[in-house]
Formats: sequence, C-alpha cells, structure tokens
Amino acid sequence: MSSMEKCVFCRIGANELPVELVFENDEFVAFRDIKPVAPVHVILISRKHFSTWMDISDSGILGRALSGVQEVAKSLNLADDGFRTVINCKGNGGQTVYHFHIHILGGRFMSWPPG
Ligand code: 5GP
Ligand code: ZN
Repeated sequence: MSSMEKCVFCRIGANELPVELVFENDEFVAFRDIKPVAPVHVILISRKHFSTWMDISDSGILGRALSGVQEVAKSLNLADDGFRTVINCKGNGGQTVYHFHIHILGGRFMSWPPG
C-alpha cells in the first residue's frame, strides 16, 4: 500500500467509513465486525496505523488497548459470562487486515483450541 492510500481501518479510525460504533476515545475505536462469528463480535483498533501488534513498541498503547477491551466488555455486558479476546498476527495467526486490531467475541461459548 502506498503512503498516499489509507487502509480500511485507518479510514474507520478517521471516522471516514460508516461502522456500528461501540466505543471510542482519542486513541481507539471499537465497532461491530462486518462478518460476525459470534453473537457479539467487536473489533477494537488504534486510530494510529500499525501493521501488526509486533510493530508497536510503546507498551502504553498496548496496555490502553486492553483497557479499551475492558470498557467494551463492560458496556456490552460480557464481563459476567466471559468472552474471548484475540489478536491475529501475520500469516500463521490468520491476520487479514494489516492494521493492529483486537477481536472481542462473546455471547456464546468459545471452544478451544482454535482450528
Ligand atoms: P483479522 O482476520 O485481520 O484478524 O480480522 C479482520 C476482521 O475485520 C475480520 O473479522 C473482518 O470481518 C473485519 N472487517 C474487515 N473489513 C471490515 C470493514 O470494513 N468493516 C467492519 N465492520 N469490519 C471489517
Ligand atoms: Zn491503517
């Protein structure tokens, strides 16, 4: 991708694409996944572009992202029954969108291990 183009999550982070918003602050946006695999499937992104979470050297960003996950879990009433948090990383991790994001999955039992 050239530096002129924005990736799809950069566009969502800049409020340029319509999403079903769940949570936002200066740094992060959380919205419903377009192809949900669970009754609750939310994606939390940083507004700033990092291709993968391995490209984030600031542990503060990673910590605040996880605090954002807690906010989402509380606001969607996932905290009592539990939920699954996933960060897919690169090829073997099954990452398809190369902009750092965290999946928040809930509303049903999540089996283990992943396929
Ligand atoms: P990954 O496989 O990279 O971990 O997950 C990317 C996720 O983003 C997928 O679950 C996919 O359905 C979701 N997604 C991709 N593009 C869009 C979009 O434009 N809008 C929304 N709401 N979700 C998207
Ligand atoms: Zn991006």
